[in-house]
Amino acid sequence: VEHLSKVYKGAGQTLTVLHDVSFSVERGATVAIVGPSGSGKTTLLGLCAGLDTSTTGSVLINDIRIDQLNEDQKAQVRSQYTGFIFQNFQLLPTLTVLENVMVPLELRGEKNIRPIALDLLEKVGLSDRGHHYPAQLSGGEQQRVALARAFSNRPQILFADEPTGNLDSETSEKIIKLIFELNREAGTTLILVTHDLELAARTQRIIRIKGGAIVSDQPVISSENNS
Ligand code: ATP
Repeated sequence: VEHLSKVYKGAGQTLTVLHDVSFSVERGATVAIVGPSGSGKTTLLGLCAGLDTSTTGSVLINDIRIDQLNEDQKAQVRSQYTGFIFQNFQLLPTLTVLENVMVPLELRGEKNIRPIALDLLEKVGLSDRGHHYPAQLSGGEQQRVALARAFSNRPQILFADEPTGNLDSETSEKIIKLIFELNREAGTTLILVTHDLELAARTQRIIRIKGGAIVSDQPVISSENNS
């Protein structure tokens, strides 16, 4: 991430939500982005994942400068390298749980996707809910579907925005375990936005942002690292 800034303009007002943010993350690392509400964390994550366009600056994923790509090319990079778990799940309401997990596989042009999707649902403990619609699931269950969907991309980088927000502690722990397992077993780079400082302390590095700028960027020194 190189000198990234994001400015929103509208109704005669200009709002600078990120200014001159730079950092880099090595493959396989686990990083938490923390900071007060409104500090720009979600905006930063969206830019890193190529879901949004910066005002100035660049994001490079595997040396590909994604801000110079058109929307189709960006979508291809996202599909090839990234998975994203959103704060509000973003499941498709008219598709069943199984179909939601199958979408990224279909987009990648994979064959025989049904058993792969069923396998992923089993991994998150929801193999019996494949035929249900998102609205029929609890928040924690929807979050697990979102996770299965993100996993289905076999991402090199997983971006997660408040992956445990609004979940009870038992479900949170399950989700966290799955996310860190992905890091350990598949070497997936984890970039998490969270208000949960205990979760942040389980990553290797914490980037704090305030008012749209990085105020500290430090390794976590903890025996619980990568748990
Ligand atoms: P939270 O912890 O509450 O989720 P955050 O740190 O993730 O907050 P962002 O969601 O990145 O913060 O928002 C940063 C700032 O940008 C906020 O002041 C928000 O109101 C503003 N903002 C976000 N999206 C837009 C938009 N589309 N237009 C104008 N302002 C926006």
